Amino acid sequence: MLVKASGNDAACKPAAGLYLIATPIGHLGDITLRALAILSQADVIACEDTRNSGILLQAFGIKKPTFSYYDHNADARRPDILRRIAQGEVVALISDAGMPAIADPGFKLVRDCREVGFNVTVVPGANAAVTAVAGSGLPTDRFYFVGFLPPKSAARKKEIAGLKNVSATLVFYEAPARLAASLDDLAEVLGANRPAAVARELTKFYEEMRRGSLRELAAHYAAHEVKGEIVILVGKSENPEGAYDIDALLAQRLQQLSVRDATAEVAEMTGMAKKEVYARALALAEKQKD
Ligand code: SAM
Repeated sequence: MLVKASGNDAACKPAAGLYLIATPIGHLGDITLRALAILSQADVIACEDTRNSGILLQAFGIKKPTFSYYDHNADARRPDILRRIAQGEVVALISDAGMPAIADPGFKLVRDCREVGFNVTVVPGANAAVTAVAGSGLPTDRFYFVGFLPPKSAARKKEIAGLKNVSATLVFYEAPARLAASLDDLAEVLGANRPAAVARELTKFYEEMRRGSLRELAAHYAAHEVKGEIVILVGKSENPEGAYDIDALLAQRLQQLSVRDATAEVAEMTGMAKKEVYARALALAEKQKD
């Protein structure tokens, strides 16, 4: 049921408090009427980047004082924002794109406002993760938002390893320069056959949704450099580890093949990470020698 919420529409000034306002992730048409109404009536707009948000506000003819609120000044700026709200101001928070507080500064401000009992209102709208999941064709019944992976491969693999048993579509934000390397690590740790998708430039002119196995996507992006904003999605394993008796498969292959070849074949068949299959193959081969 749709309702007209009091205090949040164009007709009346919103109540004092913090307003988290979603802005487009690309297409300007994705701003909401409610977002425009509140931005037009805010006393001040806290922006992740005042220059980026200036372009958006100008496009909609909104002239309001702005200041920056981003990772590196957030701790210093929060007391001032809380003081403004205490004095009765309407403070809007917007990020560079999408829903503030999702992989953006904002969480601590919301937490502090909640702790002192200030009004916090979320004005929903575009979000890259949800847009990507919805359009990916991967299962949407459960999805697990990871956000950005660490930039260095060793730390990245460690974090990915912690996701191995998550039975849901996994959602990552990634920078274009790291896309191929991250896909490679995902394939190595989660299994090269896992179904996946790369959503790029959602809602924009060059929007693209490329689907394939992690191996296929890693190979594609190793050969094709891309630009733009990216969400990586990894589907649940179609052949979960439990569905195979890995030791039985390996034992059978090891009767004819070397450890290395048996590993390659079983990893290919099951989608399991080669490293893991190799360790099991080695242990089995040792046992068979005894
Ligand atoms: N708060 C935002 C949201 O609600 O989606 C996300 C902010 S996060 C700092 C920025 C990342 O979101 C980008 O690096 C990219 O991974 C993803 N992203 C944002 N816009 C996107 C788009 N149009 N297409 C694909 N990914 C996007």
